[in-house]
Amino acid sequence: MTIRHHLSEELLMAYAAGELPEAFALVVATHVSLCDECRAQAEAYEALGGAVVEEIAAEMDDAALEACLARLDGMPQMAPARPAPRRRGVLPGPLADYVGGGVEAVKWRPVGKGVRQAILPTDRGATARLLYIPAGVAVPDHGHRGLEMTLVLQGAFADETGRFGPGDVEIADGDLEHVPVAEAGQDCICLAATDAPLRFKGIVPRMAQPFMRI
Ligand SMILES: [Zn+2]
Repeated sequence: MTIRHHLSEELLMAYAAGELPEAFALVVATHVSLCDECRAQAEAYEALGGAVVEEIAAEMDDAALEACLARLDGMPQMAPARPAPRRRGVLPGPLADYVGGGVEAVKWRPVGKGVRQAILPTDRGATARLLYIPAGVAVPDHGHRGLEMTLVLQGAFADETGRFGPGDVEIADGDLEHVPVAEAGQDCICLAATDAPLRFKGIVPRMAQPFMRI
């Protein structure tokens, strides 16, 4: 696949440092599993982080190091560690692990106009969802209060900022108001992460918002 829209350096760095909310880490891990370029970058940042940790460890005395390691043991495992580039059909490895299988295992819920979504179980603070947009259909016009990342898994969509095909990731911030439309020919499946409720302009989507958790 030819990927044209990549992750930002900031996101890759935060991912390598383990600082992203789980929902965003999942989008990054999934893109990284599809994109050699971003994977190399993420690995470089991880190596850099490892070198810093080693340097700190070298300066510690044995007791301090042991206390530190003991604390690390007690910490919860970090979300998606360096994913292997593998796929189960439409869903790349890191995502298939979340869904518990391929796209047939996704529990879709209708959100209107044939659009379906499935919220994935992640930490609070950011929400990850799979979106199914029938070919030719538009996602309701919305702005953002926070950061929205959208990764295309199948098909393509286009909005004011460009065209996004398989593997492409769109990073939208609070200033963008866009109308993503799925390209004709193939239904579009995306993985999206948001860290704040979206602001829909229409009254019906706005009323539905609390129920859809978007
Ligand atoms: Zn990339």
